[in-house]
Amino acid sequence: MFKWLRGLRAAPAIPDAAWQATLARYPFLARPTDEDAARLRTMAAEFLRDKEFHGAHGFVITDEVALAVAAQAVLPVLHLRGGLDWYDDFVGIVIHPSEVVAQRKTMDEAGVVHEYEEVVAGEAMERGPVMLSWQDVLASSVSADQGYNVVIHEFAHKIDMRDGGADGSPTLPSGFAGTSSAREARAAWTDVIQPAYEAFREQTILAERFGGEPTWLDPYGATSLSEFFAVACEAYFVNRAHFGRDFPDVLVRFDEFFLNPRP
Ligand SMILES: [Zn+2]
Repeated sequence: MFKWLRGLRAAPAIPDAAWQATLARYPFLARPTDEDAARLRTMAAEFLRDKEFHGAHGFVITDEVALAVAAQAVLPVLHLRGGLDWYDDFVGIVIHPSEVVAQRKTMDEAGVVHEYEEVVAGEAMERGPVMLSWQDVLASSVSADQGYNVVIHEFAHKIDMRDGGADGSPTLPSGFAGTSSAREARAAWTDVIQPAYEAFREQTILAERFGGEPTWLDPYGATSLSEFFAVACEAYFVNRAHFGRDFPDVLVRFDEFFLNPRP
């Protein structure tokens, strides 16, 4: 789609009662200023205009479903330079009634192919659709204490993959964290995220294998740097206070990235 066309088609307004019901169900959507609250609503309407929802296995896409996904998906790009452009590599969003058993295939270093099944609450494919389990989307209305949010997780992957490949390092804006080149910006990001990920991995291993204290952040984030980024984004957007206590350095970098004021 041509980007300039987006501005030409007015987004249909979201009915007030439906919007208020969404805000009430997902309290972490509350914004500190009226300006931010209005921006969230406008961008959610634009998101609904640009994306196509499909229900799998007979699941019916109601206004409640589409609005819940739109409002949460917009949260990470609310202040990102480029806004919804971060999501313009795909159109489809597939909603399953509950978790999905995905068939996986990997090849190990010896060239042996392993096939296995994985139960997933969501999935984001590069330049492809986003898949979500409605049961898990709904569950995020009450799991902010645990920092859990499947919609933000999958759309964080989309932000990460926007420059090709899920590596836990999205395209950083010029001047990021006071740097003067793309290379320096990348180093400013990696020098904080990589050690935080490695320390978190150690903590999860201590907890799982040696009976150490369980981590607050979802241990799934220890599987790879890209999963760490997605899981950290969930927590950052739904429980900033707890996330900031556990990952003060990452919080600073996330603020610099996600709250980057538009020029
Ligand atoms: Zn993931």
